[in-house]
Amino acid sequence: MSQDPKLQPRYSGIPTFMRTPYAPDLAGIDIALVGVPFDGGVTNRTGARHGPREVRNQSSLMRTINQATGIAPFDLVNVGDAGDAVPESPFELLAAHASIEAFFDRIQEAGVMPIAAGGDHSITLPILRALAKDGPVALVHFDAHCDTGDFYLGSRFHHGSPFKVAAEEGLIDPKKTIQIGIRGGVTDRDIWKFSYESGMRVIHIEEFYQLGLDAVIDEIQQVVGDSPVYVTFDVDGLDPVYAPGTGTPEIGGFTTFEAQQMIRSLSTLNIIGADVVEVSPPFDPSGLTALTGATIMFELLCVCAQSLQQRRGEAAPAD
Ligand code: MN
Ligand code: MN
Repeated sequence: MSQDPKLQPRYSGIPTFMRTPYAPDLAGIDIALVGVPFDGGVTNRTGARHGPREVRNQSSLMRTINQATGIAPFDLVNVGDAGDAVPESPFELLAAHASIEAFFDRIQEAGVMPIAAGGDHSITLPILRALAKDGPVALVHFDAHCDTGDFYLGSRFHHGSPFKVAAEEGLIDPKKTIQIGIRGGVTDRDIWKFSYESGMRVIHIEEFYQLGLDAVIDEIQQVVGDSPVYVTFDVDGLDPVYAPGTGTPEIGGFTTFEAQQMIRSLSTLNIIGADVVEVSPPFDPSGLTALTGATIMFELLCVCAQSLQQRRGEAAPAD
């Protein structure tokens, strides 16, 4: 199968992510696109377990060049679809997280950069456990929710708590964490107090529009600096007109264009991996949310490829 739409129509063939070669052994791959079909951590509407398959399907629409930035990621680096991180025990949350972590351990050990499609947001915790073994990393987090909640219905681990646990486990540096798009009703005024008390930069949607896009982009740069950084994109950060098919939608979010602009600004950062989570196909009859997720994944791929190429350029001996 050819990835080149000029040689084979994009709607044909078996739908790997962005029509990249299927590479479960990671051979010759710089960036691995990975599905994580797990939604055992959702607090409300389920279905994100079906996200990877629909994102793969819609990602067939992706082309090869980012017209806005001029970046052609498949020319810069070798990209493959590494398959799905299938939890061995999907009904046991901790065991499922352990097997997701093991899948990403293998990617990390192979020196490959992962870009994952979830799955609910709880999957970012085991991914960070695999990638941040050498100490805490910075985090750029797009979401309607801080996901730094405490125990919920008796469980410390769910899709509303990964970044509290990640900070407590020393996987992310709260002072190098920025959370963008926060909004919606809460059942407890202090629900996100961990974000504030630990020193995360929290940009509620009201402040986002007061500051304006350029100022928010500057803040991302200031918070992250040159630290290794993981980028996590919960599609519910977007306004639900762009991403209705998600577990916990909140109206009044940023637009897909604003999301694209923010992601494109990350190309100079030292990115170690990224994900797009919370696409829930059962709530997405038109396929719009999966298309949005796939396109966000392509934007992330572009900046991950740029970041990787930059690092290699710096590491290469001068000639
Ligand atoms: Mn989230
Ligand atoms: Mn969310």
